[in-house]
Amino acid sequence: KAKSEGRSTYHFFEPGMDAELQQRRSIEAGLRLAIERDELRLMFQPLLALEENRVTCVEALLRWDHDDRTISPVEFIPVAEETGLIVPIGEWVLQEACRTAASWPGDVRVAVNLSPVQFRNKDLVGQVKAALSEAGLAPTRLELEITESLILSDSESTIAALHELRGMGVRISMDDFGTGYSSLSYLRSFPFDKIKIDRSFMRDIATRSDSQAIIKAVIGLGQSLGMTTTVEGIETEEQLAMVREHGVSEIQGFLFSPPLKPKALANMLHSEAVKGQAKRRAS
Ligand code: C2E
Ligand code: MG
Ligand code: MG
Ligand code: MG
Repeated sequence: KAKSEGRSTYHFFEPGMDAELQQRRSIEAGLRLAIERDELRLMFQPLLALEENRVTCVEALLRWDHDDRTISPVEFIPVAEETGLIVPIGEWVLQEACRTAASWPGDVRVAVNLSPVQFRNKDLVGQVKAALSEAGLAPTRLELEITESLILSDSESTIAALHELRGMGVRISMDDFGTGYSSLSYLRSFPFDKIKIDRSFMRDIATRSDSQAIIKAVIGLGQSLGMTTTVEGIETEEQLAMVREHGVSEIQGFLFSPPLKPKALANMLHSEAVKGQAKRRAS
């Protein structure tokens, strides 16, 4: 019976292939076609710089519209990394993010997440340069977010690529700080511009005084190393008040804004810019 329903059905019940593997196979098959089928898109989450009280940076976050649902990057990025598909996908993200940011006010930067796998590709720096020049975006308007796992692979070519990018004027941020195993030593291996404290520290801030102590310490550490600090996952006024008191430079979270569609984000930035001009005229 299984055979008459066709090969794929037959394969589906192959013994030893568990549900998780099936799921991965199906994500992989779909992902291979995602770019040409135009199923990838970016959402944009604005970050609020507290001192200036305005948006100076916006993070590009990838979405995949597939089979009537939107698949989260948490689900498909790991598969994209294992299969190497993250290289063409990541290149598309860079191009699309730079293109979009080119239409924003000139004092707003775009932040793009990079996978460690993209650094194994020899031409990452070339990809970044091409994306910037095709979009006509100044390198100083691009931030690249990398995670601790990148520095874990600590190869000389990775560090060299980071230095070359930084030499062009691109900023480098350490993302999800505090989730790895030896975060502090990473800060010595490369001079980051920004530390983004992982949102897991925000989650239990109200109930755990140790989370609060850690956030306070990391903000102080960033300040003394000349790095700006961002706290992710700010969802309540209490959390905002607390990190403000500790002197954090920038916040990201649903309280200020969730990730937005490109149009809504552009509208927000332009109305902010108009407000800013009015304020300057009035003063
Ligand atoms: P991330 O880089 O740490 O991005 C922040 C994530 O936190 C985003 O999830 C964002 O929607 C979410 N977030 C922001 N504010 C809040 C909040 O107040 N509360 C809560 N609960 N969540 C908040 P998202 O978009 O699902 O992305 C998840 C992760 O996927 C990202 O974490 C990043 O590691 C990865 N990712 C997303 N886009 C890309 C990409 O283009 N390339 C690569 N390599 N990774 C990406
Ligand atoms: Mg990020
Ligand atoms: Mg992050
Ligand atoms: Mg995170």
